[in-house]
Amino acid sequence: MYNFTYHRAGSVDSAAAKLAESGDGKLLAGGMTLLPTMKARLAQPSDLIDLNEIEGLKGITVSGGTVTIGAMTRHADVAASAEVAQAIPALAKLAGLIGDPAVRNRGTIGGSISNNDPSADYPAAVVGLGATVVTNKREIAGEDFFTGMFETALDEGEIVTAVRFPVPEKAAYFKFPNPASRYAVVGVMVASTSGGVRVAVTGAAPCVFRQSDMEKALSASFSADALAGITQDADGLNDDLHASAAYRANLVVVGAKRAVAEIA
Ligand SMILES: Cc1cc2nc3c(=O)[nH]c(=O)nc-3n(C[C@H](O)[C@H](O)[C@H](O)COP(=O)(O)OP(=O)(O)OC[C@H]3O[C@@H](n4cnc5c(N)ncnc54)[C@H](O)[C@@H]3O)c2cc1C
Repeated sequence: MYNFTYHRAGSVDSAAAKLAESGDGKLLAGGMTLLPTMKARLAQPSDLIDLNEIEGLKGITVSGGTVTIGAMTRHADVAASAEVAQAIPALAKLAGLIGDPAVRNRGTIGGSISNNDPSADYPAAVVGLGATVVTNKREIAGEDFFTGMFETALDEGEIVTAVRFPVPEKAAYFKFPNPASRYAVVGVMVASTSGGVRVAVTGAAPCVFRQSDMEKALSASFSADALAGITQDADGLNDDLHASAAYRANLVVVGAKRAVAEIA
């Protein structure tokens, strides 16, 4: 690991100020992705600005049909939340399927979405449930937030403070995990919401995407049978030692059918 200067921020404003002052600073959330990268000398931030002491970034509130999750809320806390389980059971399930207990006890929703790993689970929830990402500067519609592999709409120095999930009529999450890392080879969130049916796919491509053919078919008839004739194009899907593009394409269809069958 290269040397760096450590700062413990007491507020979002002071974290933003320290980030702006530092030459090449990085925010530290759960450290599950950032620290291994630094240990492997693949990243060399001049400063680490630790968000862990900022109480205002932690916690879950459910009110007026919206589940709001603070950026520094751990995956384990989302998975264990009775309020989330009641309002959006698919979201609690998704959080409980992330990695292993060590990862769930340190990793945060803010860190996960800011990192935008193509195999991460939360992007499927943010896009599939039509969530809003709240930052220290603005609100960003979930589907505008993830812009490419490991890329987001966040500006330099912008800090995610929370994610707001509207409670859907019903939703289910299917995940085919990598047996070693537990990351999603493919994950599919299917939701029937007040704004229509949404199907978001993670793991299959370089970035989370909505499957519009499935959305149309499920809007006409919300049943696994409605997906009978639908295929997923393998072009542009991830193709690696874990799964070929064709295999992932098939998993998208299988996963969507299983998710629909769970809630139809
Ligand atoms: C073995 C292993 C298995 C895993 N399996 C899965 C899995 O199955 N599914 C899954 O989804 N994920 C998985 N992960 C990733 C895990 O969910 C991490 O929690 C996540 O990638 C990063 O979150 P973090 O809080 O640790 O962020 P960090 O590592 O601290 O930060 C990640 C990046 O986000 C930035 N950042 C952090 N917080 C903010 C913020 N509030 N605003 C703006 N930028 C911010 C940081 O500066 C950094 O660039 C796994 C990780 C490991 C090590």
